[in-house]
Amino acid sequence: MRIVLMGAPGVGKGTQASRLVEAFGLVHLSSGDILRAQKAGGSELGRKLAEYMDSGRLVPDDIVVEIMAEAITGGNGAAGLLLDGFPRTVAQAEALDVQLAQLGKPLNAVVIITVPDEAIIRRIVGRRSCPKCGKVYNVESMPPRRDQLCDLCDTKLTRRRDDTEELVAQRLAAYKKQTEPVIAYYRSRPDTRVIEIDGDRKLDEVTATMTAALRPRETEN
Ligand code: AMP
Repeated sequence: MRIVLMGAPGVGKGTQASRLVEAFGLVHLSSGDILRAQKAGGSELGRKLAEYMDSGRLVPDDIVVEIMAEAITGGNGAAGLLLDGFPRTVAQAEALDVQLAQLGKPLNAVVIITVPDEAIIRRIVGRRSCPKCGKVYNVESMPPRRDQLCDLCDTKLTRRRDDTEELVAQRLAAYKKQTEPVIAYYRSRPDTRVIEIDGDRKLDEVTATMTAALRPRETEN
């Protein structure tokens, strides 16, 4: 099963992705995480990525497509792939189609999580995560048990550089302008299932709706 998980920044893609990966045994490929890891490497490419990522802009298509193509080919396990944050432009979606066609494994479904902008801003500004194990918290709605420390591994929680109110506005604008057309691209194709999920509910409800929508076709490969 190959799934693309879409939604504006802060709709809960990361959290829901971990749950889908567990439910269906998929390999999770988050373009944001992959790019952040490259950026942290401090290479020439890393510095270039920082220029875009630290200002809330999308990284150019050719760079992202190359990095993701490598990850997709490497993670092309039998159980399937969950792509999270990629594709973010129509050009990336077209490139992904070519890559998956080469692997002989087309997309099964595109899941879009929607949340109103006001709720997104609240969520992102309160978001903290563990730099070691990746667990995500929210200072208001999902605080850690001990102040600023990860429940799972005791590491001090950090805030993403781009999780400021100003950059959230920039990232939302990029989503509307560059990524919403990708939804139209997928909707126009009769053989791709597009599933829209209301993400402005309790985490467990969102997960349950999503897994139920995907389960009937779980046996596809
Ligand atoms: P995310 O963690 O998905 O919010 O991504 C963080 C940042 O990484 C974004 O604001 C972009 O700068 C960059 N990024 C992640 N995925 C993509 C993509 N598919 N295309 C272009 N830029 C991306």
